[in-house]
Amino acid sequence: MDLMTNKTIRHSSLPKLAECPCFENKPGEAGAAAARGTRLDAAFRAGLSQEKSTVELLVEELAAVAWAVATVEDLARGAKILSADEECKVRTPGMEHVGTADAIIPERFLVLDLKSGQVRNYREQVAAYALGLMEQYFADRWTCVLLFCDLQKVVTHEFTYAEAAELVEGILKAARDPERKPVLCDYCNWCAFSTSCKARVEAVVETTALMVAVERNGEDAHGWMLETMLEDPAMVGNFLKQAKVFDVFREALEERVKQLLEEDSEAVPGWRLRSGGTSEVVFGDDLVRLVSAGTISWSGVVGALGNMSGKKFRELWSREMATGEMPAVIRVGTERKASLVAVKTTKSKEFKS
Ligand code: SF4
Repeated sequence: MDLMTNKTIRHSSLPKLAECPCFENKPGEAGAAAARGTRLDAAFRAGLSQEKSTVELLVEELAAVAWAVATVEDLARGAKILSADEECKVRTPGMEHVGTADAIIPERFLVLDLKSGQVRNYREQVAAYALGLMEQYFADRWTCVLLFCDLQKVVTHEFTYAEAAELVEGILKAARDPERKPVLCDYCNWCAFSTSCKARVEAVVETTALMVAVERNGEDAHGWMLETMLEDPAMVGNFLKQAKVFDVFREALEERVKQLLEEDSEAVPGWRLRSGGTSEVVFGDDLVRLVSAGTISWSGVVGALGNMSGKKFRELWSREMATGEMPAVIRVGTERKASLVAVKTTKSKEFKS
């Protein structure tokens, strides 16, 4: 793990650095979500400047951007909205990187940032925008509005100059400290050091040592360990958090083992390659033909296939219908899903469903 103390820190990295002062973005890992965010940003800026957008969007994306534009116009209450790239540059004291906000309303001391996807923490990023803008506009208070357009949800952060400066300077100081230590956090999988980081390796070593100790003490110890953990929420939480680190190592190791076995089927003792299995399918066009011939019913086919996700249906609708907007008679319901999410706490992780 090669930590750089003089790296250029981007505004968008501040929430991650607030969790772990050693975090670095994986190079070249922008991904599909980031590309979609860039498309929505371009459409949002075009909407605010009342220019015709050249970006192609799905129906629900158009609705998300239209909501964000209308929300900004409401907040502006007639004041001038800056949204051109060159008007939205933000220079934050202590940072070399020049940030770019999505929109600024100087008269209302407001900065606005469009976000796609789930609600996440961006407080530290917008604190840096607020700090830069307070310098630029000689203000002592600034409001940052995050527009989570897919969910049509607004999250607002307000800062005095002193609050923003304290927050940003604290993160920069910790991130530039040559003695800084990595802290396991929710951003580890996005970090350049995800497979080499000392904190992660130690988590794997500790968990492995525990498993080896249990192995040596036989069957009884397995039962004892599980029962003890089940009775102790803090212990089970900590164990699961550490065990999650294994996923990244396992993926990398599995790839390596596959590679070795492809070259030599005996290369890794205890493992062999199995060619991917197949499962029987009935092709969609055959189903359409059978329904059209009246051999089977649509309700039977749809019942067997189950509900379609709202996103998939909207995509289908926008592909098939020129009208775009879905009529109200089509109900979009919800299905409850439960999954474990590690949330930030100082001592232990909580899980929510
Ligand atoms: S892998 Fe996690 S703990 Fe390690 S440097 Fe990256 S963010 Fe920090």
